[in-house]
Amino acid sequence: MKDFWLCLFGGWFGLHKFYRKEYGMGFLYFLTCGIFGFGWLIDAVILLVKALKKVDIDEEYRAKQQKKIERKEQARLQRERELAARQERIEQLEKEGAVYCPKCLSTSVQYVERRKRLSIGRAVAGTVLLNPLWGAVGAVTSKKHYGFIKCLKCGYQWRV
Ligand SMILES: [Zn+2]
Repeated sequence: MKDFWLCLFGGWFGLHKFYRKEYGMGFLYFLTCGIFGFGWLIDAVILLVKALKKVDIDEEYRAKQQKKIERKEQARLQRERELAARQERIEQLEKEGAVYCPKCLSTSVQYVERRKRLSIGRAVAGTVLLNPLWGAVGAVTSKKHYGFIKCLKCGYQWRV
């Protein structure tokens, strides 16, 4: 019954939500005057019905908290499983020597050649702006980064 009274008298500023440590909702009620009265009214009715049915709200919240913890644990396990599967896949691909997307591990990738002008421009810029040595370095590095690979699945691009 306590929840109902808290809601009835303080629902317009979220008192029943704060009492149950639902601070986010409480704050929302506080800002919107109990979601413009609707949230306040609906909660009051629900809580009154629960009070009349003698529903143990403490127990309800405990179960809710428990479920939340379990869901979190499940999600964590799921993430771990996915990470392990990913690692396994990477090892497999490395063994095969396959070219794969570092993001989604797809092997449907496409080599895209970069425009040559870009690498020449880079070498020239290196020579003019710094010194011949740096120009040579620029030429070497631009030769190295000659093109890039595009993943056909997720669109991720990386240099090779
Ligand atoms: Zn990808």
